[in-house]
Amino acid sequence: MASSLLNPAARAQAAWDVTAVRRDFPALEQTVHGHPLVYLDNAATTQKPRPVLEKMLAFYQQDCGNIHRSIHQLGERATEAYEKARLRTQAFLGAGSAHEIVFVRGATEAINLVAQTFGRQRVGAGDRVLITELEHHSNIVPWQMLCEEKGAHLDVAPIDDAGELIWEEFIARLTPRTRLAAFAHVSNALGTVLPVRRMIEAAHAQNIPVLVDGAQAAPHLAVNVRELDADFYVFSGHKVYGPTGIGALYGKRELLEEMPPWQGGGDMIQSVSFARTIYNRVPYKFEAGTPHIAGAIGLKAALDYVSTLGLAAAGAHEDHLLRLGTERLGALPGLRLIGQAREKLGVLSFTLAGIHPHDVATLLDQQGIAVRAGHHCAQPVMEHFQVPATTRASLALYNTEAEIEALARGIEQVQKIFQ
Ligand code: PLP
Repeated sequence: MASSLLNPAARAQAAWDVTAVRRDFPALEQTVHGHPLVYLDNAATTQKPRPVLEKMLAFYQQDCGNIHRSIHQLGERATEAYEKARLRTQAFLGAGSAHEIVFVRGATEAINLVAQTFGRQRVGAGDRVLITELEHHSNIVPWQMLCEEKGAHLDVAPIDDAGELIWEEFIARLTPRTRLAAFAHVSNALGTVLPVRRMIEAAHAQNIPVLVDGAQAAPHLAVNVRELDADFYVFSGHKVYGPTGIGALYGKRELLEEMPPWQGGGDMIQSVSFARTIYNRVPYKFEAGTPHIAGAIGLKAALDYVSTLGLAAAGAHEDHLLRLGTERLGALPGLRLIGQAREKLGVLSFTLAGIHPHDVATLLDQQGIAVRAGHHCAQPVMEHFQVPATTRASLALYNTEAEIEALARGIEQVQKIFQ
């Protein structure tokens, strides 16, 4: 259609060669219970493309040495590859310096690191920390623990029934005692995209630093931490087609410099004596012990992969599938879509009248369709919508229109069984 050709998103979507993309993911070639795998649990973790698998294997086959300590050839190769991964992550996030990238196990560890260093330093009795109602447990519990320890108060900005942040309520909770605001860029349970740029601006207007949980944004959106002016930004490699056990914490350099170290051990020090230890410079100060070297190498391969394909084109493809899925699933009788924010990414969370989400997921699995059922580590969101759980289909750049149709038909099958 002529009109859609004028639309850049439609053009990008039309150019997306999903068949070629799928060939990069060996896991997608399998059958499950005799059916071709339809993998729709990408918000939990994504499948891995060949370059990620190959680079990790090559590291273990040829370059396996420890980093920042061994003078020999393998150690030097490992160190170089690990630091290249840091540079790649810096570019991926648009950070100003590689020294602002701390490798961690994932978003959870990054948030705990900030809570237990920056948080412990800055939050005292009677102070407040602000989060939102749609956070993953990883961005709730570390702050609860901190507030409990310090005698501080955890404020929660509520969402409405579409799953959107209520702006005035958020603003009302930016108080003179608020020492930090921490919120998701994208909700894992609902797919809501939060207006993080405006939220950061509003928090900064009151001198409140901000941590953004980008676990669900990094796989779908081009992030630029400097444009956002985020003080901290965290994500997990395994949700961006990379390995498990590796992720990154971005922190503004001046903040990282001021923060005390988190874990003590090798590599985070410059010198140790029984009288006194001098800590290493950032980011090494926060990377005690032997890190996930192969993970960092795999993460670099994953970030190279998505950047080469283009997150904008992938996003347009996923957005097309989301619209299709919303229309198709929304028309099924007895199906309630949970979370209908105007700005939304890649998540179809739903309930079926009279059928428990765990039964839905089990019966879909019998048809080779992988979805997640449960509270999605976001129990307060379930509470808001007064459901114990939902079934969640979540999209990635390799999903297809046929898979959305398979999901819809699968749900119809489940409904027939319960009729
Ligand atoms: N934050 C959000 C929004 C998430 O969706 C997740 C994982 O699902 C996390 C944090 C935690 O990520 P990880 O388990 O990789 O640390």
